[in-house]
Amino acid sequence: MLYADAMTVSPDTALVLFSGGQDSTVCLAWALTRFARVETVGFDYGQRHAVELAVRPRIRERLAALRPEWASRLGDDHVVKLDALAAISETALTRDMQIEIAENGLPTTFVPGRNLIFFTFAGALAYRRGSKHLVAGMCETDYSGYPDCRDDTVKAVQVVLTLGLDRRFVLHTPLMWIDKAGTFALAREIGGDALLDLTVEETHSCYLGDRARRHGWGHGCGDCPACKLRAAGFAKFKAGS
Ligand code: ZN
Repeated sequence: MLYADAMTVSPDTALVLFSGGQDSTVCLAWALTRFARVETVGFDYGQRHAVELAVRPRIRERLAALRPEWASRLGDDHVVKLDALAAISETALTRDMQIEIAENGLPTTFVPGRNLIFFTFAGALAYRRGSKHLVAGMCETDYSGYPDCRDDTVKAVQVVLTLGLDRRFVLHTPLMWIDKAGTFALAREIGGDALLDLTVEETHSCYLGDRARRHGWGHGCGDCPACKLRAAGFAKFKAGS
């Protein structure tokens, strides 16, 4: 029996922060096993490449095709434009800068406070959609040092949203304590080889937006930090399975 079949399904609605990357795709599948209705939100913040946003509809389509109950649970997709984020950020994702590690130890792709802003908008949207569950792919196991990916940050945001919106919020981060290899393993556990293949083929992580090159671990340039992390994670997953 697959992991997903053993889940008790909550009658609640969950809103998944869904970027089109590997992590948020596995989170979306995770949510589809647990909630009667699952909506998705993506943020268009002037990413230098639009590939990440472009792969989202196809991933949703393919997830819905995997299982009839996932198709019936998968609800609306919301894309929120956050142009202001690009305007206040001098980073490699939104400007034509080299991706490297800056003096503060963070990659130049870092948009300060990005996840805090995403959570705030997602919380406001969830409020309006009648959902108290937010699901997001933050992970502090092999992350790039983003302080707003840390478990303590996410727990603090849960309290802030609950107080600030005067409604109970629950923030779920199923990947917080697993590494990239563990994320591939979780995909297979939730949806078998079909979900694993979908995750490899359709999701996008590459900072440079490269979809022309296909490796065993998926599409990408192979050299940026996101590609390296994904390639290493897939190799470790393969070695362990
Ligand atoms: Zn890359």
